[in-house]
Amino acid sequence: MAELFYDDDADLSIIQGRKVAVLGYGSQGHAHALSLRDSGVDVRVGLHEGSKSRAKAEEQGLRVTTPAEAVKEATVIMVLVPDPVQAKVYEESIAPNLKDGDALFFGHGLNIRYDFIKPPSSVDVCMVAPKGPGHLVRRQYEEGRGVPCIAAVEQDASGSAFALALSYAKGIGGTRAGVIKTTFTEETETDLFGEQAVLCGGTSALVKAGFETLVEAGYQPEIAYFECLHELKLIVDLMYEGGLEKMRWSISETAEWGDYTSGPRVVNDQTKAEMKKLLGEIQDGSFANNWMAEYNAGLPKYNEYKKADQDHLLETTGKKLRGLMSWVDEDK
Ligand code: NAD
Ligand code: MG
Ligand code: MG
Ligand code: MG
Ligand code: MG
Ligand code: MG
Repeated sequence: MAELFYDDDADLSIIQGRKVAVLGYGSQGHAHALSLRDSGVDVRVGLHEGSKSRAKAEEQGLRVTTPAEAVKEATVIMVLVPDPVQAKVYEESIAPNLKDGDALFFGHGLNIRYDFIKPPSSVDVCMVAPKGPGHLVRRQYEEGRGVPCIAAVEQDASGSAFALALSYAKGIGGTRAGVIKTTFTEETETDLFGEQAVLCGGTSALVKAGFETLVEAGYQPEIAYFECLHELKLIVDLMYEGGLEKMRWSISETAEWGDYTSGPRVVNDQTKAEMKKLLGEIQDGSFANNWMAEYNAGLPKYNEYKKADQDHLLETTGKKLRGLMSWVDEDK
């Protein structure tokens, strides 16, 4: 069984007694920096000169300095720059300024799991990963709630690294919702698998294939869009609230019968065999190595895939229809 931790299990004064550097001010960075500050923690944000995020962080009342300076000042360093640049930021700004007894924190385990970053044995290495997008992490905190987090310790130099991680999680509201103890390996592998097989990759491919099947059979793209993409949100909301059972309670008996009989034909043994293959490539490091190679080559295939999907009829149809529904928020 998973070990769960709540507000009463975490001591906020631990993180309040440290100086924290948050490197990066994107989706997660802004949420961590602002909420830690509001929890009475001494925070500085580390951003390179010329970063567009600098003005935003300062406007929101935070002190901004360079990543190197932030690491020098702080004893807890949270790395929230994009995963593919973390190793470079580590080499250039973190490693030269890291001191014995410091704690290095991550919001995702990729660089530690695949050894792109190898911290010295004299520092704590921890993870606090909210299970939700950064903007929700911040909003929930402001509303007195929190997004559940998972926390892990890869290296416990101080002997009290997990208590420090829990304290940090409390500072961003995580222990209000619950923190689950994990490992860098479990978090990294399940996160990559989830986004590839189900949440992003699997869902995008399912929606596109369904849409294309209807349009190729001569149905109107607008009808296909509503059926295969728009309604998905309503179904997922029901699953989120009450699992498959609540979703099936709400849909018609006809839809439920089709769910049981046709779902396993679409996502079948072959699909599951492919999922196992994906998981194998995540576990043996080949996915991470290929992704880093693509990133370092300037993202040629990534940009090709992105462009192809932007021009897909599903997307152009959706853009037009969402424009007519004023309540559907296109804000990023
Ligand atoms: P992001 O892309 O939203 O923001 C990255 C920030 O880093 C920006 O402020 C950018 O200006 C800054 N940056 C870029 N290059 C830099 C450099 N060389 N030096 C200093 N700063 C630089 O990133 P994100 O989505 O918040 O992801 C940060 C981490 O959090 C990643 O490890 C990610 O896996 C993890 N994470 C993200 C989410 C999410 O909701 N997006 C959820 C869970 C975990
Ligand atoms: Mg320091
Ligand atoms: Mg490792
Ligand atoms: Mg994830
Ligand atoms: Mg991820
Ligand atoms: Mg329908």
